[in-house]
Amino acid sequence: MIKPDGVQRGLVGKIIARFEEKGLKLEALKFLRPSECLLHQHYAEHQGKSFFEPLVKYIQSGPVVPMVWQGPDAVKIARTLIGSTNPSQSPPGTIRGDMAVQTQKNLIHGSDSVTSAEREIDLWFDNKELIGWDRDGDKWVLESA
Ligand code: GDP
Ligand code: MG
Repeated sequence: MIKPDGVQRGLVGKIIARFEEKGLKLEALKFLRPSECLLHQHYAEHQGKSFFEPLVKYIQSGPVVPMVWQGPDAVKIARTLIGSTNPSQSPPGTIRGDMAVQTQKNLIHGSDSVTSAEREIDLWFDNKELIGWDRDGDKWVLESA
């Protein structure tokens, strides 16, 4: 999910391009202002932490771009593309390492496990919004069976 800072800074296209260039396949995407209720569920693991309320307020401060990217090891690949939580510890070449400075405004959220991804996809998308499609270029990206 591209966070409000990514949208406000005009980085939506650049961030999406990183996932496309890598070879992951876009399955769903939308543009919305998330409700407080949705964010409380999304960030449930952080409830009670000092940064929780400011985090929810910040993510609610403008529109965001939730997306579903599919592919082998997609969660691991996405987290590698995104970089570390703290951009100052994120190497060049990563989204946060190249384009962000401080932890809160680190441009993008990425699911941290397949279980989290399934839970978060369920929170942000209806089943019918997930587009199952065949990408012609996949034969040049994926190992054949
Ligand atoms: P992520 O999975 O790398 O996004 O990191 P976490 O799940 O640990 O934290 C969720 C989000 O909360 C981060 O991406 C930051 O936007 C924010 N956050 C995490 N830790 C801190 C912190 O120590 N201070 C502040 N201000 N924000 C934090
Ligand atoms: Mg996390």
